[in-house]
Amino acid sequence: NDKMVKLIAGNWKMHGTADSLAEVRAIAEWARKFEGGVEVALCLPATLIHRAAEAVPGFTIGAQDLHHMEKGAHTGDICAAMLHDAGASMVIVGHSERREAHREADADVRAKAEAGLAAGLKVILCVGESLEVREAGRAEQTVAAQVDASLPRTAVDPAVFSVAYEPIWAIGTGKVAEPIDIEEMHRAIRERLVSAYGEAGTGVRILYGGSVKASNAAEIFAVREVGGALVGGASLTAADFLPIVEAGA
Ligand code: PEP
Repeated sequence: NDKMVKLIAGNWKMHGTADSLAEVRAIAEWARKFEGGVEVALCLPATLIHRAAEAVPGFTIGAQDLHHMEKGAHTGDICAAMLHDAGASMVIVGHSERREAHREADADVRAKAEAGLAAGLKVILCVGESLEVREAGRAEQTVAAQVDASLPRTAVDPAVFSVAYEPIWAIGTGKVAEPIDIEEMHRAIRERLVSAYGEAGTGVRILYGGSVKASNAAEIFAVREVGGALVGGASLTAADFLPIVEAGA
């Protein structure tokens, strides 16, 4: 954990139009100061990817979803090659908002992760339990099962594949998991990664996500097995996001 360069990725969700490119520029410019010490990325709405990638060459711009097929009759969908073509070099798969609102199951998420990696995109695969599951004492077994069923079956390179643990009850709620709970869950996820990939599984970064902000980032990054963060609300402006990047550098 100490030696791993942390990955701090922003997830803009359904926010941002052309006038937000100034924030993208500000974030990318500032992130350059930490090059080598921390990896920074912004996962933007699909409509902004091309303009953002052109505005900040060399900075990692990502997408928030993709279709697992290469092409075809899939109205409204976007495949990995299209994202790559637009200038994206990363993609989030399996975010809980997609698992819920678009009924994505683990098998769908796995196919998306495999498609992203095959197209040369870095992949962040999200898992996490609901409040109901946590209160029933089944958080660890639920997340472990999610990990097992959504991991790509192909070999993974830790440089381009990460898992984000995002307890659903902590996303956009201001509630953050306790350090001890994060540590235990990340350890459980690590076990599954090592079981799936052997040595390579020890190097895969496990990000925490769920109401990460400037005031709690340092505490979260100090937790063993935390390899970075997936940040929603606090990634929308440079003023909110940069202190988090700094805490991880
Ligand atoms: C997310 O959507 O991945 C997320 C963690 O959101 P927030 O930081 O706003 O809780």
